Amino acid sequence: LEAVIHMLEQSGTDMLHFDVMDGRFVNNISFGIPVLTAIRKKTDLFLDVHLMIADPLQYVARFAQAGANGITFHLESEGDPQKTIDAIHACGIPAGIVIKPMTPAEAVLPYLSSVELVLVMTVEPGFGGQAFLWEMLEKVRFLRCTAKEQGLHTMIQVDGGINAETALAAVDAGADNLVVGSYLFRQENPKIVIDFLHQLSENQK
Ligand code: ZN
Repeated sequence: LEAVIHMLEQSGTDMLHFDVMDGRFVNNISFGIPVLTAIRKKTDLFLDVHLMIADPLQYVARFAQAGANGITFHLESEGDPQKTIDAIHACGIPAGIVIKPMTPAEAVLPYLSSVELVLVMTVEPGFGGQAFLWEMLEKVRFLRCTAKEQGLHTMIQVDGGINAETALAAVDAGADNLVVGSYLFRQENPKIVIDFLHQLSENQK
């Protein structure tokens, strides 16, 4: 893991996206606080923690303490989303809210002005390597447009099924942060992928 992280640092990666799965909110189990603590000791990269867990409010402070630079949680998880947002901000880090494919973009609107990031899942959360759900781009477009209308500089992130083709479409729809897994790690030289993705956002400006 340390070797891969250093390779990503050298490839110009902007942040490390850390998918936490608890076996309850999603069927799969990934990793948690001890692994984040270990990674924190090895890198200065921004650690972008995506909580796919049933009860985020109970854990945000511990993830922040372990070194998260930003925490994103699911609107569909338990508890009052505003309380979770406030708890993340109380740790002094940016808060993100994420919606699964079946959740409409409008559900985010009550929280849009209180979060720094909205993550639109472009696959069902829980497993890597799934095909991109093209219809999710409508949500990206809607949220980008609404944020702009409200004078907000919300980061719009997409997660799942990103490759050269879908990245182009996601950036075109207004995404400014792309989570890349399989597409990056299947390449012999990840720097080529990172450079390509950076170029996309440059062209968009
Ligand atoms: Zn994720």
